[in-house]
Amino acid sequence: MICITIGRGRHSSLLAEWKAAADAGAELVELRIDCLRRDPDLKRILGNRLTPVVFTIRRGADGGLWRGDEEKRRRLIREAIVMGVEYVDLEADTALDIPRPRFGKTQRIVSIHNFKKTPQRIEELAEQIAKGDPDVTKIACLAQNLSDASRMLAFVGRTQTPTIGICMGPLGLFTRILGAKFGAPFTYAGFNPDLTFAPGMPRFGDLRSDYQYDRINGETEVYAVIGDPIGHSLSPAIHNAAFRKLGLNKVMVPIQIPVGTLKESLAALSWLNIQGISVTIPHKEAIIPLMNAVDKSVERTGACNTVLNQGGKLVGHNTDYRAAMVSLEQALGGSPGDEHSAILDKQVLILGAGGVARSIAFGLSRRGAGITVCNRNEERGVKLAEEVGCRAINWAMRAGTPCDVIINATPVGMHPNVDESPVPPAAFRPGMVVFDTVYHPENTLFLKLGQSHECITITGVDMFVYQAALQFRYYTGQDAPVELMREIVRKKLNPAKDD
Ligand code: NAP
Repeated sequence: MICITIGRGRHSSLLAEWKAAADAGAELVELRIDCLRRDPDLKRILGNRLTPVVFTIRRGADGGLWRGDEEKRRRLIREAIVMGVEYVDLEADTALDIPRPRFGKTQRIVSIHNFKKTPQRIEELAEQIAKGDPDVTKIACLAQNLSDASRMLAFVGRTQTPTIGICMGPLGLFTRILGAKFGAPFTYAGFNPDLTFAPGMPRFGDLRSDYQYDRINGETEVYAVIGDPIGHSLSPAIHNAAFRKLGLNKVMVPIQIPVGTLKESLAALSWLNIQGISVTIPHKEAIIPLMNAVDKSVERTGACNTVLNQGGKLVGHNTDYRAAMVSLEQALGGSPGDEHSAILDKQVLILGAGGVARSIAFGLSRRGAGITVCNRNEERGVKLAEEVGCRAINWAMRAGTPCDVIINATPVGMHPNVDESPVPPAAFRPGMVVFDTVYHPENTLFLKLGQSHECITITGVDMFVYQAALQFRYYTGQDAPVELMREIVRKKLNPAKDD
């Protein structure tokens, strides 16, 4: 179950937002009474409850906004219990002073918050909480590294009592989602996009639609997308929708792994038995030495974006590379079974010399294309060209190089710089294939220029969806629902239009 946290300065706003949450399907709402600027009027707030309630008045010392008298705070909590709220949140020390009443059904969430760190022995916090006679134990600590978050989740899995164990901050996001697998009675989510109650708290809509939180249970297999940053990755939304469509009990969660900490982070997570990992910037190269085996696509490109856990053995693949090659072959009129690639002998100009350019260059080279690399930093472009065995040109020459295919493997034209194109209109000729790897927006200025010059275009969304579909096949052994994935990517990229 997801518990929506609501806190507003005015009674009327609190009630209005509670109604909106109830209308959106909230099953439980935490009312953060400490956010009210005036004296809380409990009759007005709790008299006609719209959903079951967690009643919370959080002190400043615990991350809340209550600045009033402590006696008064405890009196209000007692009043809420008398009024029969479903849950009260009591800090561990408060719980000692507010014993369980003899009558009434209010359940006690006894909580400890630490906004600075996650202590080494989380058990000690639980022991402290146990003295307060909890129905639900809640521990929320800031994760300073991934190992903190991993320990917190493992702790939830070990406890016998209903426990919500959360690591706050971006490193702990997955603990808020995967608690459901380890018996957490609920997780907390924000509702109002302009208000944040705890670092890293996800939004209700995302937990429900991107993670299908309520479907996660003890049997759910875990998949991850790793990178830094990772919060805006589209991978969980599309893979989870595809898992659901095929009736598979699997969930993909985002795990932020800071650069330079990949090895120890994966080691810290090994107990979680993650079945598959989608890998993104900056780990595509660094993950290769950590694999037990890699396929040819990884060997050729030196980059790995997909890891499959085969009975504890980690095997690396590169679906970016395959997706780009298949998209190009199709645009050039070829098909997968062809004896000779449709790319053979085509003149291809690659703009950029980063990870994506590198994968594409090696793929094209194998298929016999004539490749030219053109990069802003010439030295980097020349280095890639030497490795691939092709030519490099100066960035200033990019518009005057005749070619059959032009590929943008730079972020030029990406949101919010949507009025930029990596090449001017003069670079386009009718019949050329124009391929933009940028997928936000889907229809970049580069592609629009190509369309207006009667070119064949391939979008970054085509490539993104295809690489995800190939990952899905590795993860499940089944064909991905590609159109559903594409629809979700478009919806995510244009939320205002579709919501
Ligand atoms: P990367 O390794 O950081 O490389 C970026 C490349 O873009 C470098 O060659 C860089 O040139 C060049 N560049 C950056 N800003 C530039 C500018 N203002 N003008 C000219 N060149 C510029 O990144 P990557 O992983 O290769 O990703 C490249 C693009 O691919 C990303 O923007 C992303 O949108 C796209 N992508 C798409 C998919 C998909 O599935 N569709 C997947 C992954 C990535 P310097 O060497 O001069 O810095």
